[in-house]
Amino acid sequence: MLEENINKAVLDLKVSKYTVVFTGAGISVESGIPPFRGPDGLWAKYDPSLIEINHFYNNPEISWKMIKEIFYDFIEKAKPNTAHYAIASLEKKGYVHSIITQNIDNLHQVAGSKNVYEYHGTIKRLKCVKCLKEFLREEISLEELAPKCPLCKGLLKPEFVFFGEPIPDKINKLSFYEAKRAQVMLIVGTTGEIMPASLIPYTAKESGCKIIEVNISKSSYTDKITDIFLSGKASNVLTKLNDILH
Ligand code: ZN
Repeated sequence: MLEENINKAVLDLKVSKYTVVFTGAGISVESGIPPFRGPDGLWAKYDPSLIEINHFYNNPEISWKMIKEIFYDFIEKAKPNTAHYAIASLEKKGYVHSIITQNIDNLHQVAGSKNVYEYHGTIKRLKCVKCLKEFLREEISLEELAPKCPLCKGLLKPEFVFFGEPIPDKINKLSFYEAKRAQVMLIVGTTGEIMPASLIPYTAKESGCKIIEVNISKSSYTDKITDIFLSGKASNVLTKLNDILH
């Protein structure tokens, strides 16, 4: 069944002139990053209200303590896995044209992917909430919390989307534009539960895009919009696709 579906997916990927990969937490699980939701998720251990935007502004030291622990002592140290590398390889060979990711871990870029849209932002940049200047993560010490802007001493905030914050307009528009122009969308490791990101594949489908889904089990997309379901770990399935497509 999987082999047959892999062959179908390969045919679609060969004829597609514009293929967009849409990834979620599932692709980074094999890099040792648990998903945020679910019984073993990070929010079972940490209080998610600590990255609620108003809580952050009112209690930056307390929020930053958890932010550092989760995102900089832990997630930032993770390495890409073979699924990230397979996607980067497919992009290099011309089978993938862009990647829209819900992840903020920067692992697609570390694996070598070039055209990456980070829908929820990234841990790799910090922005001053006062003067709005952006800094690379490496430019800022996290020895003392909360970190302050080197220019104006304003509070620095990681450039990922906190609870209660809207998706920045620019990345939102660009991501939906990518979805509309896609001929094939490869959904990888996402169950489609996080709004509004979850709408991206529906937009693609409405524009006539073929949906190929790679997940370990059925998602909210599978019975609604998925044309080809590739059941399995992202690393296994994507390595197979990458091996067949030269
Ligand atoms: Zn500043």
